[in-house]
Amino acid sequence: AKSGGGNVVAGYHARMREGLVERLELESDLRAAVENGDLRLHYQPLVDLASSQVIGFEALVRWPHPTRGMINPLDFIPIAEATGLIVPLGRWVLHEACRQAVEWSTAAGGRPLKMSVNVSVRQFDRADLSEVVAAVLAETGMPADRLCLEMTESVLMTDTDANLEQLVRLKALGLTLAIDDFGTGYSSLAYLRRFPVDTLKIDRSFVERLGVIADDTALTDTIVRLGKSLGMATVAEGIEEFGQLAALREMGCGFAQGYYFSRPVPAAEAGRLFLEGAAV
Ligand code: C2E
Ligand code: CA
Ligand code: CA
Ligand code: CA
Repeated sequence: AKSGGGNVVAGYHARMREGLVERLELESDLRAAVENGDLRLHYQPLVDLASSQVIGFEALVRWPHPTRGMINPLDFIPIAEATGLIVPLGRWVLHEACRQAVEWSTAAGGRPLKMSVNVSVRQFDRADLSEVVAAVLAETGMPADRLCLEMTESVLMTDTDANLEQLVRLKALGLTLAIDDFGTGYSSLAYLRRFPVDTLKIDRSFVERLGVIADDTALTDTIVRLGKSLGMATVAEGIEEFGQLAALREMGCGFAQGYYFSRPVPAAEAGRLFLEGAAV
């Protein structure tokens, strides 16, 4: 039993080392990918529920790894955050998404295109974020009011003066701010009164159980009403079925995303979708 235990421990250390080596490898690969411009953006259509038209996209980063295949953002964003790589990565995402939005909008005869970009806590905590965003808007010619920055509740919830000032600086650029994954974070809603937020993105976990679990249906309805009463837009995430769409329309939710309409797609396909201008 003793030697068996020893083997277990040795095996454990070997696995730890493997895990560490793999992590370090991923880290240096990611650094190279960011430096060499090897990351890609996919775009998920944002649908206006009143007209059923695609009015814009959410930019979602992808990492086509030379040997590991496509790596999911949930597997490398945490590494990017831990290493600080999220800062150059996030700037690249912002720039590429805005550049692409301007290109598509121009190709569609100037039809406005709303582009939504995810901003992580690490980016938000940097004092120069609003200067970075301002520079990207100037570089790409993106009209500020067509850009939406998505942040999770955890970013916004720390109700400090520094956070408020950061949000005010961003708002002063003329862009819109959305709370991502709304309803999954904290229970206090006090910050909604204080912070200049424009949009609530209702988390997929609520939408998933619409019509199935009464409590989730009631919660979604409440979030839509809350948004309305605060003069905020509501976007439902993760619509996969017609029943969910029908329920959200009934509630008066303004906008939606989800596989029901389209998965996130590569740039060429997203450009076509927008240019066709067809209702989905
Ligand atoms: P998120 O911001 O909540 O993005 C929505 C995620 O849900 C995306 O996953 C999208 O592909 C997925 N999704 C959309 N519609 C449906 C649906 O109908 N059903 C299901 N099951 N899933 C759906 P993805 O692209 O893997 O991104 C995961 C997360 O990674 C994002 O969650 C976001 O938090 C983060 N992320 C992605 N791109 C960026 C980025 O450029 N910067 C930062 N900071 N984070 C990013
Ligand atoms: Ca998002
Ligand atoms: Ca989300
Ligand atoms: Ca999410």
